[in-house]
Amino acid sequence: MPELTVRVKEKCVLVGLVTQEQTLAQLNEYLDELEFLADTAGAETLEKFYQKLPHPDARTYVGKGKLEEIRKYVEEKEVDLVVIDDEISPSQLRNMEAVLKVKILDRSMLILDIFATRAKTVQAKTQVELAQTQYLLPRLKGMWEHLDRIKGGIGMRGAGEKEIETDRRVAQQKIALLKEKLEKISKQNETQRKNRGELIRVALVGYTNVGKSTLMNLLSKSDVFAENKLFATLDTTVRKVVLDRTPFLLSDTVGFIRKLPHHLVESFKSTLDEVRESDILLHVVDISHPAFEDQINVVNETLKEIGAIDKPGMIVFNKMDLYDKKYFDKYLSSDIKKDILTELKNTWMAKTNYNCVFISAVNKENIDELRNKLIDMVKEEYLVKYPYKTEFY
Ligand code: GDP
Ligand code: MG
Repeated sequence: MPELTVRVKEKCVLVGLVTQEQTLAQLNEYLDELEFLADTAGAETLEKFYQKLPHPDARTYVGKGKLEEIRKYVEEKEVDLVVIDDEISPSQLRNMEAVLKVKILDRSMLILDIFATRAKTVQAKTQVELAQTQYLLPRLKGMWEHLDRIKGGIGMRGAGEKEIETDRRVAQQKIALLKEKLEKISKQNETQRKNRGELIRVALVGYTNVGKSTLMNLLSKSDVFAENKLFATLDTTVRKVVLDRTPFLLSDTVGFIRKLPHHLVESFKSTLDEVRESDILLHVVDISHPAFEDQINVVNETLKEIGAIDKPGMIVFNKMDLYDKKYFDKYLSSDIKKDILTELKNTWMAKTNYNCVFISAVNKENIDELRNKLIDMVKEEYLVKYPYKTEFY
């Protein structure tokens, strides 16, 4: 029988823990983000479950009572999918699945699924395939015995679907091959980048969904895919931009996200080549997000890991329109607003050595200030890097 092409939205529930390391407020915020991820993957969240435990239950992540509560709900509401906020072990996955009798994914598997459906270039596809082979395989083994009726859908797209039956040895060989292939692509890209000529390169970095692609469009007047979904694209887009007669290359890269296991981040490192080799970083931040400081730290940690933290750059606090609505009383005088922003600016400049601007990319507020600062930085970099190119400064 041919497969159904129109997929009904899968119904899911989310499960997380309040532990010694994670307060209820933090968990709520993580679960909101997880709901957003589930939505991006095409699932509708019906309910969020949480439990207070000193640490995750070694056998079933949550305790027996909570698991039974979830089971009842899943059965009653005909839930298709249970998503766990943390990375769970293959055995936890199997034990939970034996009780709940529905498909279970953890945060990483959900993210991989989104990557798999959205990867466009060979490089992005290969990276996803590698990560899926490494991460999914040990988890999928023997997992689907109870689940004859579940043959696809979220979590199974990309490599997952065809790999369930593959044995370990074949998988190892495949991993080695994929790594080789990535190495080759990475070298090809490097050569391509070298052939771009002597242009200063500016990279947009930042947590996912902060407005990088929107800003890319604004600065380059191009049409990069921007939507209110996490990880709208995994691939890097590079555009040549000319501002004030000064040309440079602007790249828009994949967003960063919390709680991604280290070895998964590793698989996506070559996506960050563009960032590593850029001359200037524009770190875009969604200032209206309650956890924006946490997001800045996640991005900075990754920049540190790839050795890109010391590049000249700027923090672009975006979505000021939402911040205004949320935090500034409409009767607040503009002087006081200014003071608050100056304070914020000084704090982050002191912490990161970066200059700051406050903008709204959708309302096009303060874009001139951003442009002017950027032009100055680009010119300065030309002076340092290509001092003989006098036409640019
Ligand atoms: P990216 O993941 O960092 O590339 O983020 P996108 O550029 O795709 O933007 C994510 C969402 O935020 C989209 O729905 C944008 O329209 C929205 N967005 C971007 N900039 C702003 C802004 O300044 N204000 C508001 N309110 N929304 C914005
Ligand atoms: Mg984007």
